Amino acid sequence: MIVSIASGKGGTGKTTVAASLTRVWKRPLVAVDLDVEAPNLHLFLRPVIEESGPAWIEIPVVDESRCTFCQACSELCQFKAINVLGSVVLTFPEMCHGCGGCIAICPERAISPGKRELGEISRGRAGSTEFLMGRLKIGEAMSPPLMRQVKSRLKDMICASGRDAIIDAPPGVSCPAVNAVMDSDVIVLVTEPTPFGFHDFKLAWEAFAPFGKPMGVVINRAGIGNREVYSFCAEKEIPLLAEAPYERAVAEAYARGRIIADLSPEFRNIFVSLYAKIFELAAGTLLMEAPHA
Ligand code: SF4
Ligand code: SF4
Repeated sequence: MIVSIASGKGGTGKTTVAASLTRVWKRPLVAVDLDVEAPNLHLFLRPVIEESGPAWIEIPVVDESRCTFCQACSELCQFKAINVLGSVVLTFPEMCHGCGGCIAICPERAISPGKRELGEISRGRAGSTEFLMGRLKIGEAMSPPLMRQVKSRLKDMICASGRDAIIDAPPGVSCPAVNAVMDSDVIVLVTEPTPFGFHDFKLAWEAFAPFGKPMGVVINRAGIGNREVYSFCAEKEIPLLAEAPYERAVAEAYARGRIIADLSPEFRNIFVSLYAKIFELAAGTLLMEAPHA
């Protein structure tokens, strides 16, 4: 089973939930940080990194001596990463998504594949949990191609070992966030009961609902803010999977890179219960008891 931990905005406690869930997961697991622009799951899980290497994207390299400037490549590229201006072919590698379309379409075989470094992929182990992480190069804007490579590595690991996966997804509702959750079996949305939290939670729910995946909510910092998110979940029948209370000890643990499931038996039980509810949600047996408004 693949579970994505997602949120409409950063700072809701998404990584805290992913790390705590990893701690209580009973089956063989891969913990994956797909928040490649700002990965931080490793700060909590503290894996031993066993392997790390660069991730590349394939970009076009044009041999103008073979080019007839027919423009087939520039007409194909929706990202405007290759352009023909008269008798000059301009490429913009930082805008290229590495689809290889221009290379395939060129009738003169004037385009060959080059490569550009996107970031790095690391693999390691935190106790019995396998760990996988992508990290985008500083200044690099193209996160989906790196995420695809991390997901491809994840797929190989899952196929080889039959492990479950917990994905710490990027926050928000843009391409990277959608890319992270789209192949999951269950989506867990983490929010906080504040007006900002509710606003972005709603956007995330609207963005991910069309996938038709089982989706539930974890309310972090419960006890602050207002009840808007509870009312919305009650109205839409979005199951409340867990509530983590707002306590100073949690903030201190977070600041020290500690996992909150380790704080006390009460906190551990929150995530043990969340683990069970995720399986019920996936199986369709979770009592659809929406949060009380
Ligand atoms: S498709 Fe090939 S031949 Fe045509 S303009 Fe592009 S590089 Fe040149
Ligand atoms: S590989 Fe794809 S995205 Fe990159 S320049 Fe060619 S057509 Fe455009």
